[in-house]
Formats: sequence, structure tokens, C-alpha cells
Amino acid sequence: TVRVNGLTRTFGERRVLDGVDLEIRRGEFVALLGRSGSGKSTLLRVLAGLDPGAKGEVEVEGTVAVAFQEPRLVPWKRILANVALGLQAPDPRAAALAALEEVGLGELHGAWPLTLSGGEAQRASLARALVREPDLLLLDEPFSALDALTRITIHRLVLDLWGRHGPGILLVTHDVDEAMLLADRVLVLDRGVIAHESRVDLPRPRHRDHRDLIALRSTL
Ligand code: ATP
Ligand code: MG
Repeated sequence: TVRVNGLTRTFGERRVLDGVDLEIRRGEFVALLGRSGSGKSTLLRVLAGLDPGAKGEVEVEGTVAVAFQEPRLVPWKRILANVALGLQAPDPRAAALAALEEVGLGELHGAWPLTLSGGEAQRASLARALVREPDLLLLDEPFSALDALTRITIHRLVLDLWGRHGPGILLVTHDVDEAMLLADRVLVLDRGVIAHESRVDLPRPRHRDHRDLIALRSTL
């Protein structure tokens, strides 16, 4: 669970976040929309505890994992080592390899980060977040560089993890269909506040295979 009250963040004269109130419980899947530059990544950095310059109340219970908008892979470590980095597990390398296989990167476990394509780097970064099985998962446009088919596969993977471990998820996306397909609640960040919020009532479980996805899309 994460609770945010009256969160503000200014950069010089610019007040990017201007009193954000937000609560995400374990097991909730929340999507965050908003124009480019509206402060979505800034909000995620604060929630991840990475921005000491923010003011307001932020209360986080449990562990947090983030997949950043720009995949932040350590360039001098191979992909497997990047995913296993700091991982608390009986066998971190085995867990990391399984996570890489899930995102379709098993064969690239020995590759160097700078040799990956944009979508591969995004998936490696996602594997690094998923393998931690956090209580709160923050995803900043993690699917933007993926082709349509890979995107569906990765959607299913995230939904599977969500079903299995029930973390709270906050997903930043520019894709309204994607937000409605995946999330229970859709928020819109505008002028520094959560300006709109709506619940999505679609049948569960969400798309089990591509046919379900296409059927669901046609109902949106
Ligand atoms: P996008 O959809 O393009 O990713 P965003 O909603 O994630 O946009 P942010 O990255 O949160 O937007 O940035 C919000 C605003 O805050 C932008 O105008 C950006 O220039 C400004 N900003 C973010 N970080 C800093 C910083 N460290 N110093 C100065 N300005 C910043
Ligand atoms: Mg951003």
C-alpha cells in the first residue's frame, strides 16, 4: 500500500506536482495517464523514494520495484547480472534467468546492455522489476518500445504476476486502451493534481489469449 497526501514538487519556479493525493492498495492495478510533461515520471520517482526534493506525506508499506521510462541497465554488467543485481533469493541467478525467459530474453542473458534493442532493454528492465515480487510495482511506460505481439505477451506476463502475487501496480501509459484493458482504476494527472479518476469494470480474468484480447478490445 502507498498513501500520498498533498504531494508537491517544484523545479525552480515550476510547480510540477501541486498537491497530489493518491492511495494504491496491494492487489490494485492503477493506470496513470497524463500529457507529456505533466509530471508522471516525477510522481513515480517520489513514490520510489528517489526524490528527496518533494514535499508532502508519502507512506509506503512493503517493498517497491520500478521499471523506469529509460531502462537503467548497468552497462558494464551482462543482462543476467543486471536482473540478479541485489536480488534477495536463494539462487538469484536462477531466478533472474527464469524472469528473462518469461520476457523472452533467455537467449540474451549473456549479452551486454548496450547491444540490446530498445524493446529488449525495456523487457530486461521489466524482468528486473518483476523478479523482485514487490508489494508495489511502478511501471513507467514499460511497453512503449514493444511491437504489438510482444506487447500482448508482456501484458499477460504482468497480469499473471499480478494474479499470483497481488502487488499494487501503478502503470504509466499514453495508451488509453491499454489503461482500460489492464487497470481497475484510471487516473489522469493534469496541472499538478489527479484531475480525473475512473473505475474500469471489465470482466475478469482479463485476456487469457489473443482472441480474448481482440474480443475485449471490440467492447471498449
Ligand atoms: P512524459 O510523458 O513525456 O514522460 P512526464 O509526465 O513523465 O512526461 P516528467 O518527466 O515527470 O513528465 O516531467 C514533468 C516536468 O518536470 C517536465 O516539464 C520536466 O521538464 C520537469 N522536470 C522533471 N525533472 C526535472 C529536474 N530534475 N529538473 C528540472 N525540471 C524537471
Ligand atoms: Mg515520463
